[in-house]
Amino acid sequence: MIVNKGFSFNNMVGEYGITELPHRRDIEKTELGIETTYPGQLKPLYSQNSFEEGSIAYEFAAIDTNNIDEILNFCSKYGLLSTHRICENLSNDYTFFNTSKTLFSEVVPTSENDKMYVSAFCNEVLTMRHLLGLKEALDNHNSVTLLTNLIPLLLSYTSTSEISSETETEHFNYQFYQYIRDYYHTEFVPTFDLTTFDDLLRSFLLRLEYFANLSGTEYDSFEISEHMDYKDIFHCTWQTYHSILMKLLPLVTIYTDESLSEFRFSKPITPDLLSEAGITEKELRQAAITCMSDFFNIQTAFITPALRYENNQLTADWKITTLLEAMYMELIVTFAPNTQIKKCANPTCNFYFDVGVGNSRKIYCSQRCALLMAKRKQRERDKQKRS
Ligand SMILES: [Zn+2]
Repeated sequence: MIVNKGFSFNNMVGEYGITELPHRRDIEKTELGIETTYPGQLKPLYSQNSFEEGSIAYEFAAIDTNNIDEILNFCSKYGLLSTHRICENLSNDYTFFNTSKTLFSEVVPTSENDKMYVSAFCNEVLTMRHLLGLKEALDNHNSVTLLTNLIPLLLSYTSTSEISSETETEHFNYQFYQYIRDYYHTEFVPTFDLTTFDDLLRSFLLRLEYFANLSGTEYDSFEISEHMDYKDIFHCTWQTYHSILMKLLPLVTIYTDESLSEFRFSKPITPDLLSEAGITEKELRQAAITCMSDFFNIQTAFITPALRYENNQLTADWKITTLLEAMYMELIVTFAPNTQIKKCANPTCNFYFDVGVGNSRKIYCSQRCALLMAKRKQRERDKQKRS
């Protein structure tokens, strides 16, 4: 769909390679990082003055997180998700950047190259993909997809699991990992025996329940800090997350891997399983809506209106500092009001796309996927004929 995104954003786009960085959760180890080898130049990615086809956000969410080349390709096309060179240079210089800033240094010099953990990059890809999954499931009333996308958004270990923050959804995630940190008496979430993940989740949920059922005097006897930790259980969002998980866990065990970002279930999640658990579509939709809006609102919380002078006239634009913010802004603009999104029907493609008006029969993200699937189906038919 060709749209005007309604905001502008330029990113530093240069050259990128893979490097070793100190491990995020284990100081004894290292893990892979993306490093800027050449900082590059400002490249306009979004413009409020033109109509463009395509979506950087959908492209980002479709990246195969096991494929380093795909990750580096994305970076060399659009730059890093956030760069110091832009954050350090938030001045009116943007007005001069491409033309006349030649007197002194072009930007504030930094001694360190921009770096980012590959795992953090992949977490952002998966987060956005699950959010698109929630949006699609809301549009198409699919309870199973609602649940399978909700679980990783609530339970994945991400950078927000490390610092307590604003929204109820992030706070839920943070307190769950804080519970794990307390359980192991450590400052970092350790690499623990993953068979206990499900047990830890259960005991965290029971802890919340215990806290929510305290009498007034018992409640007063607790430390104020604990009141602050679990205060959200008195409100609807946490109660809905709690209720869904408590109904699910007696029937299904949740497994994760060492990255704590991908989840498997001991049984396939089916509509029958959901009704056996007593999980209703209504509560899944409510949970999906609160989760989705919390994620979008926090990712765009630092975007503010900005007055610019462009093409000899004053324009109202938005001040956006990172590519990640810009992509969330793009999705907000795309989603509201009332667009419907679909996942590509090619099972090996992770792309989502907008279903434009009068276009609701479209099932593939692109001509490429449509042709690929037509060929695949033809091969299957040929094979059946032969046998
Ligand atoms: Zn596709």
